[in-house]
Amino acid sequence: MGIAVVFTISALVCAGTAVVAWRRRHNTPAAAALAAALLGTALWSGADAFLHLGVDPLVQRIAGRFGFAGIYLTTTALWCLSRAVADPHWRLRRRVALRLAAAPTLLLAALLTNPWHHLMFSSVTFSGSDSVMQLTLGPLFWVHSAYCYALFGWAVQRLVTTRRRAQGVFRHQVTHLLLGACIPLLGNVTAVVLPQGGGPVDYTPVLFTLTGLVNARALLRHGLLKLVPVAREEVVNSIQDAVLVIDSGGTVIDHNPAARALLSRHRPDVVGEVVGRPAAEVVSPALVEPLEDGALHRQVEVLPGLHLDSRISVLHDRHGRPLGRVVVARDISELVEQRRAVQEANARLVEQLALTEALQARLAEEAARDALTGLHNRRHLMEALEEALARAGGEEPVSVVLIDVDHFKSVNDTHGHRGGDAVLRAVATALQRGCRPRDTVARYGGEEFVILLPGTDDAEAVRRAEELRLRCAALAVPVTALPGQSLPGPRSPEDGRRRRDEPGAVITVTFSAGVATSPQHAADADALIAVADHALYAAKAAGRNRVVAAA
Ligand code: GH3
Ligand code: MG
Ligand code: MG
Repeated sequence: MGIAVVFTISALVCAGTAVVAWRRRHNTPAAAALAAALLGTALWSGADAFLHLGVDPLVQRIAGRFGFAGIYLTTTALWCLSRAVADPHWRLRRRVALRLAAAPTLLLAALLTNPWHHLMFSSVTFSGSDSVMQLTLGPLFWVHSAYCYALFGWAVQRLVTTRRRAQGVFRHQVTHLLLGACIPLLGNVTAVVLPQGGGPVDYTPVLFTLTGLVNARALLRHGLLKLVPVAREEVVNSIQDAVLVIDSGGTVIDHNPAARALLSRHRPDVVGEVVGRPAAEVVSPALVEPLEDGALHRQVEVLPGLHLDSRISVLHDRHGRPLGRVVVARDISELVEQRRAVQEANARLVEQLALTEALQARLAEEAARDALTGLHNRRHLMEALEEALARAGGEEPVSVVLIDVDHFKSVNDTHGHRGGDAVLRAVATALQRGCRPRDTVARYGGEEFVILLPGTDDAEAVRRAEELRLRCAALAVPVTALPGQSLPGPRSPEDGRRRRDEPGAVITVTFSAGVATSPQHAADADALIAVADHALYAAKAAGRNRVVAAA
């Protein structure tokens, strides 16, 4: 009675697991075969339950036939399962199905017709108080056994080969399938070898129950058949990127050699097998958890100098239920380093460019300036004058004042070139200070200056020139001589302002100026300067230190 209960439990567990496997048949090609194998085992086990219940002999006979059917279903389905696991593209074709069905059909027919020929069992009797069926095996029974063992052996051999090739979670899966397959085999061996019902212990029911439990556990706990090993070896193992497969519960269920290599660098503290452990325990969550905004791609510096690029693919079954995640990570440290170097080089280049531009601007400015006085030079003046004339267009007045320092040669003679330079600088500053921002003050030649006065008529220009003349006449440029430097003495006693005197002595100068105004005196720049020069000549001739307007 107890044995019957164990067989019943086994049958129920196997049948239940078969239903779970069957439901997954669309996700995994092997699931349908596994469901059929489990159903076979359930039948086999259920039939044995009836045999051990000591029920009516007729019921026992019927149960016995169902048991045989279960055995054929188990072995045939197992053969199909081994094909599907070894090659996920394998499908059961009609021709193969017919061939697989042929032998079991014949053997079942022989079993049903046994009462007439007694080839399967030479005698079937019922004995004892619980009327247990006693069988004497006939020659066809051994044909039946040989057939089952051959098919079984073939399937197991294929699973063993597949297991040897498989890695990660798929290896675990194949191991479970092998265990699930071999337990009924052991059960069958014990059933045949040990005397039925007469031996000290009949292990068969226990083994059958184990079959159900192993398969149920594999399906329910370890996600057996949740993932399809399509071309896994070719794809996952050969790619350079690290691949980590995480199930919906956050457990690592597979990884490839590249992932192992990367993990050994990223988490050298993690030792041992990674498969079966929570992902958060073995790898930085920043790599494997989807970000708050749902982003599935990110680049993380997991260790100083170790940059990883990680992409997460969320897997769903056909009903949209999450199956897990595949994380593909790549070491991009070198790339990041190169990018950083390029950015630094770029920054340096930009800096250099700004410096060059500033230098160019300074050079351009310097090219328009006179080195000694800092005033605009003659070239710039002529450009500014032409521009002012063009802008005025003959409608508005444009005046120029041409200035020449009086007796400047004797300043040089008396105080040396350095003294002369100091005077030129002082005159330049005075002229600059006496002008409006819109005016242009330029050093025209040695001790000659030009003031460009846009929008200023001749009378106003003369007035402004007079102002500047007085400003310059009032200048007192300190005599600077280097200690011990000997300067030439005065040329004539009455020329006091050009004397090199005792400390505290100053140089004073005057200038003469000629004023010309466009459009009445000339229309173009050169002509206007020439007219102003003419007026300047007149000022010199009239005794210097004066302003003369062009006639
Ligand atoms: P005038 O009143 O007729 O203009 O007499 P001047 O002595 O000023 O006449 P001149 O034009 O002959 O003399 C100009 C002198 O200016 C000659 C030259 O040595 C001097 N000179 C020209 N450029 C510079 C300069 O950059 N620095 C100094 N110190 N002297 C200069
Ligand atoms: Mg001169
Ligand atoms: Mg002069």
